[in-house]
Amino acid sequence: MANEPTTLAETTSLCPACLERVPGTYEDRGDGVHLTRTCPDHGTTSRQVWGSRDHWEWADAFGPDFSTDTDEVDLTVENDHACLAVVEVTSDCNLSCSYCFASSGPGGKHRPTAEIVELLETVRSEGGPRPIQFSGGEPTVRADLPDLVERAREMGFEHVQVNTNGLKLATVDGYAGRLAAAGVTAVYLQFDGLRPETYEAIREVDIAAEKREAIAACRDANLPVVLVPTVVPGTNDDEMGDIVRFGLENADVVQSINFQPVAHFGRYAESEGRFPLDEVARRLAAQVDALDPRDLLPIPCCSSYCQLATALKPDDDGGATALTTFIDDDTFDSLSGLVDEGDWMELLANTTAGKERACSAAGCCGGMDLPAGAADLFDQVLPVSITGFMDADAADVERLDNCCISVPTPDGDLVPFCGYNMTTEDGDYALRNRHDWGGRPAVEAPELADLDVDDPPAADGGEGETVPEEGD
Ligand code: SF4
Ligand code: SF4
Repeated sequence: MANEPTTLAETTSLCPACLERVPGTYEDRGDGVHLTRTCPDHGTTSRQVWGSRDHWEWADAFGPDFSTDTDEVDLTVENDHACLAVVEVTSDCNLSCSYCFASSGPGGKHRPTAEIVELLETVRSEGGPRPIQFSGGEPTVRADLPDLVERAREMGFEHVQVNTNGLKLATVDGYAGRLAAAGVTAVYLQFDGLRPETYEAIREVDIAAEKREAIAACRDANLPVVLVPTVVPGTNDDEMGDIVRFGLENADVVQSINFQPVAHFGRYAESEGRFPLDEVARRLAAQVDALDPRDLLPIPCCSSYCQLATALKPDDDGGATALTTFIDDDTFDSLSGLVDEGDWMELLANTTAGKERACSAAGCCGGMDLPAGAADLFDQVLPVSITGFMDADAADVERLDNCCISVPTPDGDLVPFCGYNMTTEDGDYALRNRHDWGGRPAVEAPELADLDVDDPPAADGGEGETVPEEGD
């Protein structure tokens, strides 16, 4: 007979069927940690959220103590806690992937430029300029994307990423240079692996060669690339080690890698086939000699269960060393709750802020001394992270309250990225709709909800034309 579940913690969760708040309980059910909740209308749901109780408790010890009063949570991101803001500029795309947060595809519409500028104003006014990411849909299908980047830079945004599938970078001569000249500081490149069949399964088309061409174009344009693999169980989870080795081999242009295990957002109807974050860490560690699963540490900014990260220093013999080996408990405690995700990665990567000691650069604490032996290693490292985006199965209001990745809304708020994208089992973006956050209301809805499709193209080029399909 199966053991009775052991209660580990209580929280406020959301019903996966309607996304209404309900009490939630984290339980050890013998095969890892489950989040169990009962909705008065939709009954009891229990979903595995962490593969190992031991790892769950280990990770919890790293997390900042935000002491959330979940009755008070208003589902906005605090001004001083929003590390990155994601700005959707279109629902159009030149692909129609099997897995897509935004449920985008050909035929989507562009957001009017004036509205995008308002969203940027929201980001700027809510705590000042911070790293932003133009997203979609596929932002590069807008002919005026370089203009939007220039506009953002003029508004004081120093870090402007473009989230892209890379097709236009690969196929349009000089496009990477145009983005770099406009002020893009990094390309956030969809990069699921090296095998053609991986792309056929996840993106519906073999674009493996185009990914390499996009990276080559970025190299020529001196435009840093973040590799962003969506990790799908049984499809490309065995490619994670090869992706890391590819990143190390191309570290002159690859700035970091952010693995994103697939979650139940947008166009992804299956109820099974998702990874707990710690399981991804274990699989990655099994494929990379330098890594132990616990070299991937929770980022001391959002919840322990949002992101695990390390940084790899290439060795002369083709291997690598995980720098988190040198972050001891005292060092981590001094960081916990005081630095944001960007500072953490910069600390590890020894970029400009890291060289000045991330904490003092951020002004959030008095700085820190690195452990002996670590300082010399902060050159030419490859940060590697895994983000466990929180879908309705894993919905935890405390995690949403501590989110550090925000989406600006037409109402002038910054809201948690996972909340903005969270979909019910029926494909409704229920939180988005309930709170008037804008955007597409349902997975199958054809347009951005707040877009006036009759609005003519703006005189300043706001309605960029759609480039032809490039994936075939
Ligand atoms: S995942 Fe990206 S490339 Fe694929 S359909 Fe969605 S927006 Fe387009
Ligand atoms: S976006 Fe999601 S996974 Fe990332 S910090 Fe926010 S709540 Fe956590």
